[in-house]
Amino acid sequence: MPGNGMNMPLKQHLIDPEICIRCYTCEMTCPIGAIEHDDTNVVVNPDICNSCMDCIPVCPTGSIDEWRVVAKPYSLEDQYGWEELPDQEDLGTDEASTGLEALDAEMAALLAEAHQGAGGKARAPASAAKPAINTYTIGKPAVARVQGNYRLTDDPGHDVRHIILDLEGLPFAVLEGQSIGVIPPGTDAQGRPHLPRLYSISSPRDGERAQYNNLSLTVKREENGLCSNYICDLEKGAELRITGPFGATFLLPGDPEARLLMICTGTGAAPMRAFTMRRQRTVGGKSGGMTMFFGARAPESLPYFGPLSKVPRELLDQHLVYSRHGKKEYVQDRILAERAKVADLLVDPKTHIYICGLRGMEAGVEQALTDIAGSIGQPWTGLRDTMREAGRYHVETY
Ligand SMILES: Cc1cc2nc3c(=O)[nH]c(=O)nc-3n(C[C@H](O)[C@H](O)[C@H](O)COP(=O)(O)OP(=O)(O)OC[C@H]3O[C@@H](n4cnc5c(N)ncnc54)[C@H](O)[C@@H]3O)c2cc1C
Repeated sequence: MPGNGMNMPLKQHLIDPEICIRCYTCEMTCPIGAIEHDDTNVVVNPDICNSCMDCIPVCPTGSIDEWRVVAKPYSLEDQYGWEELPDQEDLGTDEASTGLEALDAEMAALLAEAHQGAGGKARAPASAAKPAINTYTIGKPAVARVQGNYRLTDDPGHDVRHIILDLEGLPFAVLEGQSIGVIPPGTDAQGRPHLPRLYSISSPRDGERAQYNNLSLTVKREENGLCSNYICDLEKGAELRITGPFGATFLLPGDPEARLLMICTGTGAAPMRAFTMRRQRTVGGKSGGMTMFFGARAPESLPYFGPLSKVPRELLDQHLVYSRHGKKEYVQDRILAERAKVADLLVDPKTHIYICGLRGMEAGVEQALTDIAGSIGQPWTGLRDTMREAGRYHVETY
């Protein structure tokens, strides 16, 4: 965002600290080093960022896709001090009212969108508990101890682990749907400490074992992956440094009558496991009900295949879908096959939708929901934005 001809309005790229889950994927992706972080926030350097947009598609929460039209850019110091994004200043829209040179179409559109209210902003369910965020940071991480490391999959090419971390006496309040950062040891090619990677918590807030100060993760070993291999190879008793928790929106509603539609693939089942165990421990079958579409290559590569079969149907109506086994289906295919049930959920104001896992599944799921919503006379984009605004639509893909 090179020098500002004094009366030129600027379109400044910003990160929403309320929604940002500090996964640093944007910082690792930015080709020109315009994104940096301290212990609290991830920020964009206005003197470097050239709006190339490379960082936008990789952000799991969309918190990176924030822009403001400004007369004078917010400094790094400003951004580091934020707990939430400033609203769009009312700059007016023309030279007369702004005293600034005419806004270009893009900025005018941005201002209009800001005035319209951000239909796309992720929000927590109204009845969700208030999450703790960023309690432990890169500068002051927590040290946890591996209490268990269990392989969940028999598929040789698909190593997914259930990792239980003992937090011992550490206060580490978490909620279902949040994630933590794991700091892999060592430094990168430039000698900088490795950045943490995020992993969704797969256990309920009161512990993997009820009333124990522990939590679990569901980690897939990525070929050549630094952190996932580090975690999957951790022995029982080993210590690791963790940060977080992160995530202020992808949360379980406190209302037991809320109906959950959960759509996940692979390790995206982690938060759904936490939601299910929380309901099992609190309301059991007397809840608004949960419907899950869970995709994997085959039964042997589906995490928690065994334990899932023991979850009572009245609590969790589960649809396990395999892309390389038997009928070869993707989650969107089964969603379409169950369109009557899904349509009933879409029209119910108590329904909350959660989508988690592989980024590649988003387009197919979006198409299936568009199809079903259309068949009941509801344009999906409108319904989706209304649900998102009400904290009833959540996407976390990576
Ligand atoms: C909100 C959120 C929640 C997440 N939850 C989970 C979860 O619950 N479980 C889970 O398993 N993951 C989860 N992830 C993904 C996780 O954070 C990591 O991105 C993932 O574990 C890979 O990290 P890594 O350090 O192993 O790989 P990195 O070293 O960061 O590499 C990234 C990718 O590049 C590839 N790669 C690296 N080096 C090479 C090379 N030399 N040649 C070819 N390819 C290479 C790796 O295979 C890997 O896929 C989540 C991510 C986000 C943002």
